[in-house]
Amino acid sequence: MDQRGFYTKCIHGYKNSYDNTGAVSVPIYQSATFAHHGLGESTGFDYSRLSNPTREHLEKTVAGLEGGLDAIAFSSGMAASTTLMEMFRQGDHIIASEDLYGGSLRLFNVLSRKKGIDFDFIDTGDVDLLRSRVRKETKAIFIETPTNPMMHVSDIEQISEVAKGNDALLIVDNTFMTPWFQKPLDLGADIVLHSGTKYLGGHNDTLAGFLVLNSQEHLDELRYLAKTVGACLSPFDSWLILRGIKTLPLRLESQQKTALILAEWLKKQEWVKKVYYIGLPEHPGHEIIKRQATGFSGMISFSVSARDIAERLLNNIKLIQFAESLGGVESLLTYPMTQTHADVPEEERRKKGINDCLLRLSVGLEDPSDLIADLKQAFELPGGK
Ligand code: PLP
Repeated sequence: MDQRGFYTKCIHGYKNSYDNTGAVSVPIYQSATFAHHGLGESTGFDYSRLSNPTREHLEKTVAGLEGGLDAIAFSSGMAASTTLMEMFRQGDHIIASEDLYGGSLRLFNVLSRKKGIDFDFIDTGDVDLLRSRVRKETKAIFIETPTNPMMHVSDIEQISEVAKGNDALLIVDNTFMTPWFQKPLDLGADIVLHSGTKYLGGHNDTLAGFLVLNSQEHLDELRYLAKTVGACLSPFDSWLILRGIKTLPLRLESQQKTALILAEWLKKQEWVKKVYYIGLPEHPGHEIIKRQATGFSGMISFSVSARDIAERLLNNIKLIQFAESLGGVESLLTYPMTQTHADVPEEERRKKGINDCLLRLSVGLEDPSDLIADLKQAFELPGGK
């Protein structure tokens, strides 16, 4: 994967031609509308739901990082997915990874099914199975790799061949990896989705979402849908994400380094039953990841040997915070069962391994020794709070 110029793109993004003040930081164009010099004339900006200079700078920056033609910024990752689903209609069929972020599952199973879109949720790591599920109505394959929270890995290149051979779109949620570690468009994907709330923003302070496209046709269709749905990213939040992106590779390299240390440490604890981290050589998807990505990112899931241990950790952590979300500078411990995947029916959840012993750790930028000390004291504190 060609990473030349990535740091520079994160810092300088896209050079716009409309600001001539010399501002080093991209100005926040806090304007809902833009005046015209005369009839039939436009500065290129008309109304901020359609486009805004600060957001445009961010969109071009994200597109540049992913190697896409362009990107569209939304008010959250879910706003991006909801708009994306407007591309599909009654009778369409979509194959999706069975282990997805709970909000994506809720969107597909509740809202999209209501519109008459049919889904097959399968292990997309099994390409033969995937091939066998394609029908003439199949319009898209939607994957997360690794998945949230079980860290299943899918082979993007192989799946893209199935998609192309069947005239279906390959959509990849690249939230966990970011373009620093993985570039799905280079591997044959058609659309990349991001919760920009996570690593791209990186500071647990802003919600955002992106669709990155590499064809003019999809770009035109999705821009039309985006302005119609209207879930656009505000100028100030665009600026916050731009600021976050400046340090994206620096943060991710550090988070990955710490994640490896923590995964190795967790493996040695007798109260930890299993560690799910794609950076561990024994992870079943490790070889695919090494082939299609340049790193392992900073997300670890692990299961403990009993529910009360999970409870003890969640109740007693002091430095690490018990919260949903991921990818920020602060480490967060999440309980998928009651948080990110609370709306997934219990039986389905259990089948996937999302039970009362599963925890998800988003590794931040703290010292690894402090994070280990925090987990250790949380486990050792008798009885909880
Ligand atoms: N995709 C993944 C993998 C996520 O983890 C999330 C949120 O946790 C989303 C999409 C949705 O993003 P947002 O919370 O910004 O709406």
